[in-house]
Amino acid sequence: MKVLANDGISPSGIKLLESNGFEVITTKVAQEQVASYINKNDIDVLLVRSATKVNKEIIDHCPSLKVIGRGGVGMDNIEVDYARSQGKNVISTPASSSESVAELVFAHLFSGVRFLHDANRTMPLEGDSNFNGLKKAYANGIELRGKTLGIIGFGRIGREVARIGLGLGMRVIAADKFIGYAEIKVDFYNGQFINVKIDTEPIEDVLKHADFITLHVPAQENGYVIDEPEFDLMKKNVGIINASRGGIINEVALLKALDSEKVLFAGLDVFEEEPTPAVQVLMHPKVSLTPHIGAATMEAQDRIGIELAEQIIGLLKS
Ligand code: NAD
Repeated sequence: MKVLANDGISPSGIKLLESNGFEVITTKVAQEQVASYINKNDIDVLLVRSATKVNKEIIDHCPSLKVIGRGGVGMDNIEVDYARSQGKNVISTPASSSESVAELVFAHLFSGVRFLHDANRTMPLEGDSNFNGLKKAYANGIELRGKTLGIIGFGRIGREVARIGLGLGMRVIAADKFIGYAEIKVDFYNGQFINVKIDTEPIEDVLKHADFITLHVPAQENGYVIDEPEFDLMKKNVGIINASRGGIINEVALLKALDSEKVLFAGLDVFEEEPTPAVQVLMHPKVSLTPHIGAATMEAQDRIGIELAEQIIGLLKS
């Protein structure tokens, strides 16, 4: 059986599939030629990340296609319901990048509390002429230990963030539309662990009491989760991180809150306008920036490849 991994797949995923008798093709086929390539080569499985679109044309015109797989989370590029209605299996790997996103949240948090994002911009320009001035400018750092971390969206990634926060000695509070509590297993390298139960609270309470707020909700049907009224509820000098989806925070309200010194810093991995984020956001000195790389670690790619391979083997070899 043949697998076309059009946006790539990790070597570990390829190895597992090949050892189970699958042929894995990693040629990048141009979008408009995907359907004819599948038909010409009798492809059984089409794997994509976010680049290749699996549209009705592919679903309708490729009878050999049995499985459509998305490496990662979010299936905006696949006509999921239509594919399933036409008898295709649609699979994804929602859990494989939770730890990677959670670690990036702390990269932004550590950056924010010690002004690394700004120091990395000013040091190349002034580091040799104004060292002492910069030293003074970045002197009021804050420690994370003992502070309150507010998590909005207590699903897979929110709970991973909680695990790391607890490990750092933070007080962790959380809000979720549907989840009432979670038992967080804080585990150590040597096999020891402790379980910490966290009951969720109304979002207003989390906004009011958190020193740092991090967002882990899916794309919303309507409106922002964090807009002006929510910023009004927050403590002064709060730090806020968004590594969930663009459009969860109103960026205009965020810029206003940064300029009025309500918000000390923001860490953004996702933007309302991707791939052309607003320049006011990109240029703001209080914003730590990454280009939507939350899931992009070697380890996550490995887990994604293996998780996809295991599901394909389960579906087509049983
Ligand atoms: P999940 O489904 O496991 O958890 C999301 C949680 O949010 C759910 O428990 C849900 O009940 C809750 N929720 C939904 N709307 C809410 C609201 N308005 N207020 C409070 N809670 C609400 O999802 P996940 O795997 O943890 O992913 C979370 C987000 O991270 C998603 O938006 C996903 O697209 C994004 N993500 C980003 C990256 C990245 O590269 N930055 C990578 C992977 C996932």
